[in-house]
Amino acid sequence: MSSKPTDELRQEVEKRRTFAIISHPDAGKTTLTEKLLLFGGAIHTAGSVKARKAARHATSDWMEIEKQRGISVTSSVMQFQYAGKQVNILDTPGHQDFSEDTYRTLTAADSAVMLIDVAKGVEAQTIKLFQVCSKRGIPIFTFINKLDREGQNPFELLEEIERVLGIRSVPMNWPIGMGRELCGVYDRMKNQVELFNGKDHSSIEVRPTSDYNDPIIREMAGDYLADQLAQDLELLDVAGDSFDYDKVARGELTPVFFGSAVNNFGVQTFLENFLQLAPSPTPRRSTEGEIDPTDEKFSGYVFKIQANMNPAHRDRIAFLRICSGKFNRGMAVRHVRAGKEIKLSQPQQFLAQDRDIVETAYPGDIIGLFDPGIFRIGDSLAEGRDVTFDELPTFSPEIFAKVSVKNALKQKQYIKGLDQLTEEGMVQVFRSVGPFEDTYLGVVGQLQFEVFEYRMKNEYGVDIQLNRTTYQFARWLVGKVDPSKFRINSTLVKDKNDNDVALFENEYAMRTAMERLPDVKFLEMAP
Ligand code: GDP
Repeated sequence: MSSKPTDELRQEVEKRRTFAIISHPDAGKTTLTEKLLLFGGAIHTAGSVKARKAARHATSDWMEIEKQRGISVTSSVMQFQYAGKQVNILDTPGHQDFSEDTYRTLTAADSAVMLIDVAKGVEAQTIKLFQVCSKRGIPIFTFINKLDREGQNPFELLEEIERVLGIRSVPMNWPIGMGRELCGVYDRMKNQVELFNGKDHSSIEVRPTSDYNDPIIREMAGDYLADQLAQDLELLDVAGDSFDYDKVARGELTPVFFGSAVNNFGVQTFLENFLQLAPSPTPRRSTEGEIDPTDEKFSGYVFKIQANMNPAHRDRIAFLRICSGKFNRGMAVRHVRAGKEIKLSQPQQFLAQDRDIVETAYPGDIIGLFDPGIFRIGDSLAEGRDVTFDELPTFSPEIFAKVSVKNALKQKQYIKGLDQLTEEGMVQVFRSVGPFEDTYLGVVGQLQFEVFEYRMKNEYGVDIQLNRTTYQFARWLVGKVDPSKFRINSTLVKDKNDNDVALFENEYAMRTAMERLPDVKFLEMAP
């Protein structure tokens, strides 16, 4: 079916690493990202990533709401080269108020870095993001951060990762001391010690060892820490999982690295190991079967649309993940859903500092396409053929609000806005089936409501009323639905495709309904 890939395409695919960092707010994602960009030469001074956040707020072309909240509503892409690899970091919103966009961005990643605070362990947002990655079966690498602080026992952390996330782990290095006693890590793969010198651990000394009983360790770290290290590693050798590349590739085993991002400790070793072990772009599922990245014909899909970057012009940027072939500026491709040819003449790439026009791009890269309103989330673009990628599931909303228009005379614009914004994937809409038709919006993060309200006003001139409900779960129902079973702490609604959906206030109500209707399937996502 596909033509033989050129050496150029094969090489470009092979050197790409596209990943996202998943973590709970405050675990140190901004700090780690910044250190990685410094190594890659994409930025030159520490503080640039944070400064960029601040600078963005100072310019008027950013969403008003972002300025008000001082957070990043949308995610961008950072690109740099290191050790012959082309690295793409997908930046996902780090604030508690993440949105479906965060989840969708993860579908564009080929692997993920899970960042965990050594003292706090596995936190709520990490669990959610992990689950999205885990469902896709992508490799997940763990970086346990803030080793310079007193944290949990490393064994307990590994146990927690397995218990809470259901993934086994293999420590690639092991801390020698922690907090004030921290003096370095032992690299289990290379059999070497990395010691941090100076109060701020700014200089790092690497010493090869025969094994973890090498006298060098005793000399450098003292008897107490050397004994502790030998004891821990002996236990790991006997009882821990051994490194298995295939299991890592399937997302069944996570390699774990210990370090401290702010002190730049363990970051470079982590980056180098990660780039070695993480996969280059993998084949993607489509209506034509799996599409290999080295397939000569260009293809990709839109995973995110960012509106209102410039309210004065109302332009939108559609973010496209390239799945196969080479992108050339100005090329003509098929917009599969619309069934027409379009020219990709104004693509932008999002670097750490700037927005540049790209001339060429390869599988694994993300390009931002200027969107005059022709794209929807999930749209596929392909060179000379109709292939549709099957990458974007809808996610089960967890927060619900009743929505209505404040001024009944604006009903028409309200319906139009509601239709367009739900179509775009901004929020999910549900309608009640009772005698009084209520409209519910479902989201995964509170912020989506705020952005929805803002856009309804700014783009459609409509003031809306949003009332939060106590529902927490949505389940799509397959089978014969008896409405009398959904009266207590739950309600029956229809989604935009007329599927039956039940909203529940709590797990107890959901379990009760499941028990009462054993022949009905309760699905987390639309069938
Ligand atoms: P984000 O919310 O995940 O992006 O977290 P930030 O990168 O903004 O970091 C949150 C806080 O943790 C900041 O005050 C950082 O300086 C601090 N931090 C990051 N890495 C480390 C570390 O290795 N050790 C210590 N002690 N603090 C850190």
